Amino acid sequence: MGILEDLYQEIILTRYKTPKRRGTLENPTRTAGGKNPSCGDQLELFVALDGDRITAVRYQGEGCAISQASADLMAEAVEGKTVEEARRLAERFKAMVVEGAPPAPELGDLAALSGVAKLPSRVKCATLAWHALEEALS
Ligand code: ZN
Repeated sequence: MGILEDLYQEIILTRYKTPKRRGTLENPTRTAGGKNPSCGDQLELFVALDGDRITAVRYQGEGCAISQASADLMAEAVEGKTVEEARRLAERFKAMVVEGAPPAPELGDLAALSGVAKLPSRVKCATLAWHALEEALS
């Protein structure tokens, strides 16, 4: 494995073991859930909105490192963004892991999941939290 792959692997495993956004919100504005039966991942998402702005995102769930790390990175990335900005980020993320597009700069550490595009069976692990986010914002 190359240096970049090692770094990406480390970001994913660190997020999985020591998440920053795992938990619940007391009074979420929106909630959504999702399951990925092929891997056994499941997720519940809590979103707090102030008007059009996302003020907090938390999640609970279980599953593989990819699904949980993706949720944790997503929650951190969209906090402070508007609903429209979060939707755009979701599009960029899906372009990266589904279509194999190069990581857009605004994806930041989420680029760590770019290798998933080469692992078709894991794509649903990586997109689980994002689909829940889009559902919560719809
Ligand atoms: Zn999974």
